[in-house]
Amino acid sequence: MSKPCILCCAITGSVPTKADNSAVPTTVTEQIESSHAAVEAGASIIHAHVRNDDETPSSDPEKFALLKEGLQKHCPGVIIQFSTGGRSGAGQARGGMLPLRPDMASLSVGSNNFPTRVYENPPELISWLSSEMQAHEITPEIEAFDLSHILQAIRHHEAGTLYGQLYVQFVMGVKNAMPVDREVFEFYVKIMQERAPKAEWCAAGIGVAQVTVNEWAIAAGGHTRAGLEDNVRLDRNTLAPSNAALIARAAELCEKYERPVATTAQAREILGLRAAT
Ligand SMILES: [Zn+2]
Repeated sequence: MSKPCILCCAITGSVPTKADNSAVPTTVTEQIESSHAAVEAGASIIHAHVRNDDETPSSDPEKFALLKEGLQKHCPGVIIQFSTGGRSGAGQARGGMLPLRPDMASLSVGSNNFPTRVYENPPELISWLSSEMQAHEITPEIEAFDLSHILQAIRHHEAGTLYGQLYVQFVMGVKNAMPVDREVFEFYVKIMQERAPKAEWCAAGIGVAQVTVNEWAIAAGGHTRAGLEDNVRLDRNTLAPSNAALIARAAELCEKYERPVATTAQAREILGLRAAT
């Protein structure tokens, strides 16, 4: 039987608002409900940011704590992954929720351009976030917006500065960063297979290309991410009705390529995570 495919649901992000798609969950209660439906559809990781009451991005550890508590209660076993991305805070505020000990946290290991700004990840901040994750036993998911980020992730892992097993996510389709490009994707996979054969990888496509990247990753034996953070549409003319709808679409692709959708327990085993608490 082929390897189960881990589906990650990026439920909220920092950018989309209810004006873009009313299904974007922005309160903690909505986030828990939306996650629950996404888990029912096949998600085993919930990747989360939190928002202020006016929907602007927040890095408030208290909101993250409420979300974690709700997810543990309503989605038992699900892998909780918090974002340390740069849109919701600056400097060390980006890691202020790490003492809550989520199973995973996203980690960027290099800088690049975003649609309207530079996404800054200076070496000292990367070191600090990595060491906080070590201290709190949090497995990072490396967000690779460029090839150099994959190579840096492997270097950091070999140097022993990253907690746990290496898990790299290729992010394609962010405006002004790496586009959705099949040849580059295949090269990324080859680099991972050759230089970090024990590591796992996943891929996320931003915008309407989300489903394209989902299909490439599933077909190539990796894991994949879907959700309203990355894409609010089913196609150019149709808004996605929910996070669950985007995960269900990825789960259908798993069936097409005869990959079982990973349960939360299988995903924990594949990623070398501790059992759910
Ligand atoms: Zn995110």
